[in-house]
Amino acid sequence: MTRVALIAHDDEKPEMIDLVREYEDVLSKFDLVGTGTTGKRISEETALDIERKQSGPLGGDTQIGAEVADDRMDAIVFLRDPLTAQPHEPDISALLRICDVHDVPMATTRTSAEYVLDGLAADGDE
Ligand code: PGA
Repeated sequence: MTRVALIAHDDEKPEMIDLVREYEDVLSKFDLVGTGTTGKRISEETALDIERKQSGPLGGDTQIGAEVADDRMDAIVFLRDPLTAQPHEPDISALLRICDVHDVPMATTRTSAEYVLDGLAADGDE
């Protein structure tokens, strides 16, 4: 099953909820995992099932990176706040790096996320 991780910094959480609502049909066919707070909001505010890792500052990005390293992840939507430094910046850089190493697409904006999700949905229909 297609496995997708969903992560959003605090400023971007409303955008993530909006995106997830728009793509709820597509996402309901995927195996979803999220960082703690993002996952909590998605499970509370949509009908989707999502596995929750730790919150980002407590290691959630690192846990998701470990799945990328194990070739278990098909894509990541990571809506980052580009204007605010995050305390767990090293973990975020590590996640970006391991996605590059394993050629796992990571979308960091709304539009790129839509392209990635549309592409995964099209792959699933083949
Ligand atoms: P959160 O983590 O979903 O627990 O807020 C996101 C992050 O900052 O990596």
